[in-house]
Amino acid sequence: MITVLAGGVGAARFLTGLVQLVKQEDLTVVVNTGDDLDLFGLHISPDIDIVTYTLAGIVNDEKGWGIRGDTFNCLNMLKLFGEADWFNLGDQDFATSILRTNMLKNGATLSQVTAKVSHDLGLRLKILPMTDDKVATYVQISEGFVHFEEYMVKRAAKDPVLGVKYVNVDMARPAKGVINAILSSERVIICPSNPIVSIGTILSLKGVREALRKTCAKKVAVSPIVAGAPVKGPADKLLSGLGVEVSAFGVAKLYADFLDGIIIDSVDAVVEKSRIEALGVKVVAGNTLMKDLATKVALAKMTLEL
Ligand code: GDP
Repeated sequence: MITVLAGGVGAARFLTGLVQLVKQEDLTVVVNTGDDLDLFGLHISPDIDIVTYTLAGIVNDEKGWGIRGDTFNCLNMLKLFGEADWFNLGDQDFATSILRTNMLKNGATLSQVTAKVSHDLGLRLKILPMTDDKVATYVQISEGFVHFEEYMVKRAAKDPVLGVKYVNVDMARPAKGVINAILSSERVIICPSNPIVSIGTILSLKGVREALRKTCAKKVAVSPIVAGAPVKGPADKLLSGLGVEVSAFGVAKLYADFLDGIIIDSVDAVVEKSRIEALGVKVVAGNTLMKDLATKVALAKMTLEL
């Protein structure tokens, strides 16, 4: 059994390689839900959908989210009605959120919805939301706190970050199966995902860090930071806003209390390897840029062999 901690796009790309090497039945993916939001009366789970669509082979590869070839008629009509126009959701994507909202309204858990969607899209791995409770990531900017998606999409991640809070995290419990998956796995992989608003959110849940420290599993991360910058997205702003060095070392330090090993990019090997090893974390350097299926598979192989 392998458990994977995942955000959205970086995680989904990585998982595309991993499923070429590991049977889906042996994989549990725990996905961040701190980005979840209620819009248009619907419950939207961006990271769960990105991971599910990607593994089902229907994601819009160019964008990294949404469904390939989707149309935007529903959103355009909503725009005409003056509804929120900053969050893009295609027509088929709307269907997923309608189903999710309806099932939640009728008493299902987010775990049950996620299992149905992934099953109906042909997947055999277990995708678990990190929690069935509501946790929301808010980013502090000069005007106050805004929901992560508002910071990221509406405001295009332009504001300097002053802080981050995970609203309701103290009340939330990890979804059923999350702790057990960590404890009973041979390996836990921490995806090259945003260390603050994807992995950080999962780690902030009660019992998750403790389970990672306690488990006999080998815990291996892939750095999302290459040559002092994220490959994509605002991880640099979030890390530096919280006083964390924007480097593979900075990422390793965030996970050092439980991490056994980290894959860093070859370009960082000279500067970062010994610094990270001084934290007690083993380092393997290689190509971590997931450009095509071959590089994704090669990266996944490194995390299995470390
Ligand atoms: P989001 O929730 O959709 O932003 O996705 P994640 O949190 O899973 O991923 C965002 C992170 O993925 C960013 O910090 C990127 O640096 C990282 N990332 C994306 N593509 C790659 C890649 O090819 N290689 C590595 N090492 N990191 C990547």
